[in-house]
Amino acid sequence: MRVGITGKFILSFLLVIALIGALAIWIGIHFIADGIVKQAQSKVKSDLNVAREIYQENLGDIKDVIRFASLRFFLQEGILGGNLKAIGLELAKIRREEFLDILTLTDSLGRVLVSARNPKRYGDKVDNDLVKWVLEKKEVAQATTIIPREEILRESEELVQLAEIEIVPTPRAKLKEGGKLNAGMFLLACAPIFTQDGRFLGTLYGGRILNQNYFLVDRIKDLVFKGEVYKGKEIGTATIFQGDVRIATNVRFPDGRRAIGTRVAENVYTEVLEKGRAFIDQAFVVQDWYITAYEPIRNINGKTVGILYVGLRAEKFFDMKKKAIVTFVSIMLIGVSIAVLVSFLLARSILLPLKKIISASRQIARGDFSQRVEVKTKDELREVSESFNFMASSLKEREEKLKEATSQQLMRSERLATLGQLAAGVAHEINNPIAGILTYIRLIQKKLAKMGNTGDGEMKRYLAIMEKETARCGTIVRNLLDFARQSEPNLKPVDIHHVLDESLELLAHKLRLQNVEVEKHYGPCPQITADFAQLQQTFMNIIINACEAMEKGGKLTITTQRKDNMVEIEFADTGKGIPPENLPRIFDPFFTTKPKGTGLGLSVVYGIVSRHRGQINVKSEVNKGTIFTISLPVSIE
Ligand code: ADP
Ligand code: MG
Repeated sequence: MRVGITGKFILSFLLVIALIGALAIWIGIHFIADGIVKQAQSKVKSDLNVAREIYQENLGDIKDVIRFASLRFFLQEGILGGNLKAIGLELAKIRREEFLDILTLTDSLGRVLVSARNPKRYGDKVDNDLVKWVLEKKEVAQATTIIPREEILRESEELVQLAEIEIVPTPRAKLKEGGKLNAGMFLLACAPIFTQDGRFLGTLYGGRILNQNYFLVDRIKDLVFKGEVYKGKEIGTATIFQGDVRIATNVRFPDGRRAIGTRVAENVYTEVLEKGRAFIDQAFVVQDWYITAYEPIRNINGKTVGILYVGLRAEKFFDMKKKAIVTFVSIMLIGVSIAVLVSFLLARSILLPLKKIISASRQIARGDFSQRVEVKTKDELREVSESFNFMASSLKEREEKLKEATSQQLMRSERLATLGQLAAGVAHEINNPIAGILTYIRLIQKKLAKMGNTGDGEMKRYLAIMEKETARCGTIVRNLLDFARQSEPNLKPVDIHHVLDESLELLAHKLRLQNVEVEKHYGPCPQITADFAQLQQTFMNIIINACEAMEKGGKLTITTQRKDNMVEIEFADTGKGIPPENLPRIFDPFFTTKPKGTGLGLSVVYGIVSRHRGQINVKSEVNKGTIFTISLPVSIE
């Protein structure tokens, strides 16, 4: 396929635009996507901070309750007085009022004195990290605390059921084993109890279980995400993990159940549980993509025992991203289309004039020189078209000149041909009578001489004049015959220098008489095929003319040279020259400026040169001289 210049132009434009467009789109998508995701991630990060605050606040509330209760007078009195029953009633009341799952009093060695949840519990040693810590440090403390199943069982069967969450096998989790959780996670606070004088009596501890307790996660969701909904689903989710298992969450299974019992993905496990670091990522949680943030939950000893999670459903951000990309790409595409259009118009505005010039050149090549190109813009294209128009007009001028010249030449040869026929006829008819007349004149002269009538000198003189004039008639007739003789040349290899020398030899007497100096500049010339006699006649006619033009003497310079497959012979005289008005006529038969001229010399020359397929040119300046140039082909085909 041939791609025109328009095509190439637009193609390269398109290429550049497409390249830049693609680059812009790539960069744009990259930045838009990055930006939106980063924005979402920083939001989820700050959401996690708020969630932690809420979590800590809850823990703090419990601490306040416990500390306040621990300072109550009835506790010291009850312990010291052994009135545990009264304490039990009082603690049960506090537990109910404060919605605590457990509230238990121990002695200074950590043995249970009173459990508000289980009045039957007494004497066994409490098995939990926070109480152990307070027994040792004797300070108020609160922490997330893992309590083993057995210990929970001592408080309540109900709580055990909450804690024992069935573990759901999860595809990308690190741990695979199923079964049930055999511990519970609590928000727990513990306070030491002292006598008035500072003797350590024991501890009061209490708190709420987190397993299957959705109060906290829903509060986080409501406070942080303010119930924001996207496409009918809540955007924000919060989850509390015990170890790697979801124990409280508002992420839901497709059937609407809360997705508890599932495990966290392996990469989160490694980062958060093993390395104890916060983790922000996009993750597929249960059934949707989320932008997620996780951070470790630690117990009183600083050990990571669980994870606090918040996640934003990514759909909204993905949609935002999509929208932004679509908008961006559309803008880009519109831009590219405009650029393409502009480049197309630009290309056309450049190429249209070019096309005009091309078609105009074709027209010119076909011979229509009237073609002109018009370009209205003021630029290089205008210059191009102007010089094109100039070229076209000069071509036209030249062609017209050429036409004129050829038609003149044609006319001349036609004229010569008709005149030749006429002259031949006339000359033929006159030749014999003249010969006859001459013969009789000579006869009369002879007779007169024999008669010896010498006295009649007048008669002899008349006869002499008659003879001379008749002879002149004879010469004219012969010349006419020469001119009219359209005989084809008798072609043979001829050395033109030889012909020239011979002609000069024959005219040597005349040249000397006229005081004409001859200068020869013979260049190296090959032999040419020509008629020796006709060439000789040609050269002689020209040399005679030159002689006659230099009445007071002068110089005739003859130069020969080879030009390609032609031989050029130049005769330059220093004679009186030919006035411009005569120039077109000198080759006409009978044109002469001489009183006794025949006007046939140059006609004969012209005929011969033409029959040799040669050319004759003349340049002349009045009072300076004339140059005749004859070109003859080396060989005639
Ligand atoms: P003729 O010599 O009989 O006049 P030609 O045909 O030979 O006829 O020449 C025609 C005319 O051309 C001449 O009369 C003369 O006016 C002019 N002519 C030819 N050759 C020369 C020349 N070398 N210098 C000046 N005029 C010339
Ligand atoms: Mg002559």
